[in-house]
Amino acid sequence: MNNSLFETIEKNTLAEVAINEPLSKHTTYGIGGPAEIMVFPENKTDLIQIIRTARKMNQPVSILGSGSNILISDNGIKGVVISLKNTLKLIEIENQKLYAECGSMLGRIVKQAVKHNLIGLENLNGVPGTLGGALVMNAGAWGGEISENLVQVELIDEDGKLRYLQKNEINFSYRQSSFNKKDILLSAEFLLKKADKEIINKNFVEAQTGRKSTQPLNKRSAGSLFKNPKGHSAGKLIDEAGLKGFSIGQAKISDKHANFFINEGNASSKDMLQLIKKAHQTVKEKFNINLELEVKLMGFNKSEVEGL
Ligand SMILES: Cc1cc2nc3c(=O)[nH]c(=O)nc-3n(C[C@H](O)[C@H](O)[C@H](O)COP(=O)(O)OP(=O)(O)OC[C@H]3O[C@@H](n4cnc5c(N)ncnc54)[C@H](O)[C@@H]3O)c2cc1C
Repeated sequence: MNNSLFETIEKNTLAEVAINEPLSKHTTYGIGGPAEIMVFPENKTDLIQIIRTARKMNQPVSILGSGSNILISDNGIKGVVISLKNTLKLIEIENQKLYAECGSMLGRIVKQAVKHNLIGLENLNGVPGTLGGALVMNAGAWGGEISENLVQVELIDEDGKLRYLQKNEINFSYRQSSFNKKDILLSAEFLLKKADKEIINKNFVEAQTGRKSTQPLNKRSAGSLFKNPKGHSAGKLIDEAGLKGFSIGQAKISDKHANFFINEGNASSKDMLQLIKKAHQTVKEKFNINLELEVKLMGFNKSEVEGL
């Protein structure tokens, strides 16, 4: 354990610091071993200082939003894991401009936009992520994507410098963005359109009801496990491969939606990874289609995830 890094963070910031914090407590899967050092910055100044200190000491830095799109290894994560649970929650609206910090939950941002009769984000109602995670993933639902009305993003880069990227400097595609893996996103600005309250509310409600009828929302998952290949639905392919309801240990392919892999209780990352490989391999054999993961894997070594 890196004592001097722990002590420096404790001494010089207001952040809460924990050693060997179980990451299962910080993911929607409820899976994941310990974070060597886990920090919960209180504010932006803390966050910047922690990143700069860790980088100076050559310690790896990982960042978690609400952990709703990740599978973390039972072996945990080395170095510093930063959680935005306690910070970067500000949301401000001025006319058609919406500014939000990246620790804000999408649900809160969407509700604020709807309240101000602003259209463009309401399709994301029900995506249980933070703004930071949503931008990295280019989260989307019902035909809308978070990047659509984006103007600019504020971030701290790998050298610890604050930078602003305009939308045209970032490539967004289906569940993908071109941010550097070491960028930590701090805030973003959107330009939305005014619209009739009834239309916005209708979209808002439909986004949530559509979700309830098709997804196993009462189970622990990370949403869609694989991306939909062009012209196909990953869930349909897994279903047609005969794997709906298939399980390994406590990891199960949902009976309701075959692209939702769920933790039935005490699934290990090993169970889940094996199940993912099984689905990947079966779909490849039956349909000659290579499914690509939407969910991010963290803390696994190369040999464990080979072939995915
Ligand atoms: C029930 C359910 C339904 C879902 N439905 C949808 C859906 O309809 N559409 C959809 O797109 N997704 C969906 N998801 C997946 C997930 O909610 C989204 O991808 C979400 O945007 C992830 O945000 P997060 O804060 O949880 O990110 P995390 O899972 O914590 O992190 C995801 C990635 O982003 C990185 N990251 C997080 N915050 C930052 C930051 N501030 N700076 C830099 N990197 C950062 C992490 O390091 C990681 O690589 C669903 C998930 C669940 C559980």
